[in-house]
Amino acid sequence: MKELTCIVCPRGCRLTIDDDLNVTGNSCPRGAKYAVDEMTNPKRMITSIVRVKNRENCVVSVKTSVSVPKGLIFKVMEEIEKVSVNAPTHIGDVVIKDVLGTGSDIVITKEIE
Ligand code: SF4
Repeated sequence: MKELTCIVCPRGCRLTIDDDLNVTGNSCPRGAKYAVDEMTNPKRMITSIVRVKNRENCVVSVKTSVSVPKGLIFKVMEEIEKVSVNAPTHIGDVVIKDVLGTGSDIVITKEIE
């Protein structure tokens, strides 16, 4: 039996999940899925920054397009640290496609002229 807080929406339901993956406390099905995923294959969104080569002292924010396995967070961060981009940048531009085969792209989240 484990207790956790659902982070799928701001309501933050208190969930309980047992060894057979039965979930209680969720106000909607997304909470049950979150609890099962958290017990079997926890995933997280990652936000970070990459260097903008053609602007002095400039970085641009990036994020994963979908959540990635929690155990790969540091390796994904290492991949992000290897890349840099040129301005202009546009929200949604892909910096790394399918990072580490996770199915998640690293995408830009800020416009720079
Ligand atoms: S269980 Fe549903 S309503 Fe409750 S926090 Fe999760 S997503 Fe929101």
